[in-house]
Amino acid sequence: MIVFEAKLQGTDGQYQALDEALRTARFVRNSCLRYWMDNQGINKYDLNKYCAVLAREFKWADKLNSMARQASAERAWSGIARFSDNCKKQVPGKKGFPRFKKHQQNLSVEYKTSGWKLSEDRREITFTDGFKAGTFRMWGTRALHYYQVEQIKRVRVVRRADGYYTQFCIDVERTETHELTGKNVGIDVGLNHFLTDSDGQQIENPRFLRKDEKALKKSQRRVARKKKGSNNRAKARNRLGRKHLKVSRRRKDFVVKTARCVVQSSDLVAIEDLKVRNMVKNHHLAKSISDAAWSQFREWLEYFGKVFGVPVIAVPPHFTSQDCSNCGTEVKKTLSTRTHTCSRCGHIQDRDWNAAINILKKALQYLAKNTVGHMEINA
Ligand SMILES: [Zn+2]
Repeated sequence: MIVFEAKLQGTDGQYQALDEALRTARFVRNSCLRYWMDNQGINKYDLNKYCAVLAREFKWADKLNSMARQASAERAWSGIARFSDNCKKQVPGKKGFPRFKKHQQNLSVEYKTSGWKLSEDRREITFTDGFKAGTFRMWGTRALHYYQVEQIKRVRVVRRADGYYTQFCIDVERTETHELTGKNVGIDVGLNHFLTDSDGQQIENPRFLRKDEKALKKSQRRVARKKKGSNNRAKARNRLGRKHLKVSRRRKDFVVKTARCVVQSSDLVAIEDLKVRNMVKNHHLAKSISDAAWSQFREWLEYFGKVFGVPVIAVPPHFTSQDCSNCGTEVKKTLSTRTHTCSRCGHIQDRDWNAAINILKKALQYLAKNTVGHMEINA
């Protein structure tokens, strides 16, 4: 699945119609959640049926395209399913009880194959359901020309701090050829460097991550100082929202480029299976930033791994920083010890570099264990 995004250009009246659709989608999602909380043993199909009940009961809910209503119910369900899954697996820490969406920011509504229409030249989109939002000019859709309309499986409308966007989810598997590099790489991520690989190469944490985060905190405080419900507060909130957008776009850009580069320059990538969600919530600013960037980085590594056909293997994080990469002896060290010095073989290496090698070794061991037996030798 590939996703393209374009900005929508229309009149204020049209944006208001989109707002109505967005709020209705949120209403359906929240109502489904409420229905699940109030009744026992509700499943996915009950929620789908409940959508029709809502549409009969509330005239304005009926305005939303029926497939879009279903999509909202499905979204409610996926939150519920994730929660019950975490409970079943007894995931430590918070289980992520599904929450009601209430904020105005970042609302979205998802259409499937009906409720919208593309113009002949694919520069305009018309929303055809009961809200009558009409025809919008789209910015940034050149890529759309390469695909058939039938390949567009979903169309989402998203509201961001700086406007309305539409996303097209297109049903193609993206693959690219990978030139063999003859290199396997293990990667350790940390606070001191964004990453260290098993060849000892390091990528610094970009300065803007810290700086941006500080700027965010500042705008956050500015919002808090304004009177609740006031116009000024709404303005400050929008400014904060825009800043958030800028920061997340910048971080994503850095992470995507780095992940693509790592995957392209090796034939196997080994990483640590860190469960960032389970880490203790930490008020240490730098730590929280690098956690966020790291989990995003991992997702993109796995994505590019699929695109280029390069295996990305996550290994359990135990002892990767403690063991000696040369002889395997456990050498206890605190977080502040930056150099690994082996008490047995005398091996000296940067702490993160040592860990990156251990990560790669673990992944190779795992592969060796799990592929032996497939090969047969005919005598
Ligand atoms: Zn050693």
